[in-house]
Amino acid sequence: MRAGFVGLGAMGVGMARNLHKKGLLAAVWNRTASKATALAAELRVAAPATLAELASGVDVVVSCVSADADLIEVTHALAPGLKSGALMLDCSTVSSETARQAAELLAPRGVEFLDCPVSGGVEGARDGTLAIMAGGAPAAFERARPVLEALGRTIAHFGPVGSGAAAKATNQIMCAGIIEAVAEAMAFARAQGLPLPILIDTLGKGAGSSWYFVHRAPNMARGAYPAGFRVRLHAKDLGICHDMAARFGVQLPVVERMLAEYAELVARGYGDEDISATFRLKEELFERTNIMGAPALRPPPRTS
Ligand code: NAP
Repeated sequence: MRAGFVGLGAMGVGMARNLHKKGLLAAVWNRTASKATALAAELRVAAPATLAELASGVDVVVSCVSADADLIEVTHALAPGLKSGALMLDCSTVSSETARQAAELLAPRGVEFLDCPVSGGVEGARDGTLAIMAGGAPAAFERARPVLEALGRTIAHFGPVGSGAAAKATNQIMCAGIIEAVAEAMAFARAQGLPLPILIDTLGKGAGSSWYFVHRAPNMARGAYPAGFRVRLHAKDLGICHDMAARFGVQLPVVERMLAEYAELVARGYGDEDISATFRLKEELFERTNIMGAPALRPPPRTS
């Protein structure tokens, strides 16, 4: 099976490398072409100039681009080159509706589409340990298995096209709650003057721990938030969750609160930082004057 990879961002570059390790990668394409030509030279694979050219030389295209409109744009550009019987696996986080739209664009060409959003961060992408949530025809899922197994460790099929995206939206709601709780707890701990590295090491093994706490609380201790998973991307995901819940006439409080906090971070110019930058807002809670008008205790200086 010859695979082409589209979208060499923070996630895509690690995923493309893992396809290469399994001998599956034939070609890469990226909107900013220099990233594709550099990786192609290193891995000795092709870097075609257009998406249609990439599509015509492979049996399966794996894409990982930013948002819904980007996936539709890329799918339109791939379509003329894709051979009948080819597969497209999209690992971007998009809405179920967008996944169905992409599948409908490709169906007349005899190309099957699977939405395959992922979880596990840039580390999971690099290490090939992603959790993958697939939606699409069962036979297409079975054909895609060798590719998915090169990218992830936990691979599940949830149902027709769009159901992988719905599972990922569920995950993003859960993440929102965890991000909020970890940032708040860490700001509290810092205000208490606790040694944060020891705290992370200890609570990281306790009942309140999570992947996010272990991997991203250290950013908060250091006061540095390199992406990672960008604030504006999780805000985009929560916008999808907002819209999907709104179809049931429901507003989810955790989603709405995180959307407001992310809007604040983006407005202050932190949209391209990692989501752990939420800590910036929580830290400020302890730096404001208290309810009696007296200045709040300032937390001790940061130690790394
Ligand atoms: P990223 O670093 O911002 O990379 C985005 C990639 O998409 C880049 O290669 C970009 O090309 C490409 N792209 C964007 N718009 C495009 C368009 N209209 N046409 C063609 N290419 C386009 O993002 P990322 O962190 O890799 O995330 C990618 C996807 O995975 C997102 O949907 C995100 O929600 C999801 N995700 C991310 C994480 C994470 O921890 N980062 C975890 C799970 C899922 P350029 O290089 O030209 O900008």
